[in-house]
Amino acid sequence: MTLDDLITTIEQTRPNTDLALVRLAYEFADRAHTGQTRKSGELYITHPLATAQRLAEWRLDEPTIIAGLLHDVPEDTTVTADDVRREFGDEVAQLVTGVTKLSKVRYRGMQRYIENLRKMFVAMAEDVRVMLIKFADRLHNLETISALPPEKQRRIALETLEIYAPIANRLGMGDIKGRLEDLAFAILDPSAEATTRQIMAEHLPSVGRELDEAMRELRGELAQEHIAVVSIHGREKRLYSLFKKLQRPEYDGDIEKIHDLVALRLVVNTVADCYAALGLIHKHWRPVSGRFKDYIAQPKPNGYQSLHTTVFGPGGRPLEIQIRDVHMHEAAEYGIAAHWHYEESDKPNQGSRVPEHKLGWVRELARWHQEIEDDEQFLATLKIDAFQDRIFVFTPQGEVIDLPQHSTPVDFAYHVHTDLGDHTSGAKVNGRLVDLASELKSGDVVDIIIEKSRKAPSRDWLDSVKTHLARNHIRHALREHDEKTGKSS
Ligand code: MN
Repeated sequence: MTLDDLITTIEQTRPNTDLALVRLAYEFADRAHTGQTRKSGELYITHPLATAQRLAEWRLDEPTIIAGLLHDVPEDTTVTADDVRREFGDEVAQLVTGVTKLSKVRYRGMQRYIENLRKMFVAMAEDVRVMLIKFADRLHNLETISALPPEKQRRIALETLEIYAPIANRLGMGDIKGRLEDLAFAILDPSAEATTRQIMAEHLPSVGRELDEAMRELRGELAQEHIAVVSIHGREKRLYSLFKKLQRPEYDGDIEKIHDLVALRLVVNTVADCYAALGLIHKHWRPVSGRFKDYIAQPKPNGYQSLHTTVFGPGGRPLEIQIRDVHMHEAAEYGIAAHWHYEESDKPNQGSRVPEHKLGWVRELARWHQEIEDDEQFLATLKIDAFQDRIFVFTPQGEVIDLPQHSTPVDFAYHVHTDLGDHTSGAKVNGRLVDLASELKSGDVVDIIIEKSRKAPSRDWLDSVKTHLARNHIRHALREHDEKTGKSS
């Protein structure tokens, strides 16, 4: 994996990218990480390079690939986010800062689950590309995890399974979700993973022979009816997904009951072809009743679209077949990341407009919301409605503080601690000094500057604070101060 590999990938997936800028970003990152190695002994730059490579494979845009190259620079080197901003502009700097913030979120077990999810929401609502960089970063970290101490491996794997994979799923990124889960599975339960792998290996050959026969027959049928095939291939079930399914009571560990160990996947050009192919398949092989699902007419809540059916295949055994058009296929593999591709290829340069990736995210969030309605576990633990007029900001240590909209640094300070509020003399937001009456927004990192000798809060703060908590504390402190100074004079 070299810079040239990355350039080659970008040339294939994103021909309009400024390659000189990509090279510049690589050199910038390489210089910043000079002398650093990973735990495995490799040069550090191999990690951001692999991250950027994956983002290019997902066909993400130029700022995202560049931010992928730079994503660990502010966190791990003396080069700051401001330096990145000067060299590569606001958009790249914001992406990098978003990733840095997210990497401060530490998994601390299920009791902090909701809090972690909120932080993820904040980062994603700002710009979902931050999350995509994080996915690419996490995939490479998992692939190269063996050099880390076992405890750290477990923490990273748990966090992946409980937070990253569900988010990838809800963003419709099926392929990424599957990879994250399988990598984490191997770390968290190596013996179960090995057993599942063996079950798969034992059954794959016989299933594979029937699949080959089915593909051959199907090709013939489709050709006769002049339905063009974009691709026809077998899709092996992921190990973790198989493991989970085998554990369900209705399967009871019986591999013979699992009919989608390998599914046949047919990709065609149009929706009309999907239905035409379905008709053909049902004519050729007898469908298993009750197994047909039309996710084209009724997409899954995460946007997934395909026709699924199970038929008695060539050997008389049930065989699952998935039919989709090219767009659905892309969307199923890359989820939200596929949006960029269509947006740019379908409607190039329309002048100034709301960035599509933000709109896309709003649409995803609406879908996600829908899904949560159907999901009891989520419903019980997480109410997005409650987030609507709230903002989520961070302490410099990465703790999330939940405040009403329009809150100020003073609200933040009192929320953290009364003492901190009373002694506030200034505030930095995202590293910059701001007015104490300024409004915070979701995702801000707030650093309160204190003055130990300060005797009382400022009366002016009462005009700008939004929380009752801050208001009450300020009034109380002012009253006490007045009494004291009244006595002493
Ligand atoms: Mn990283």
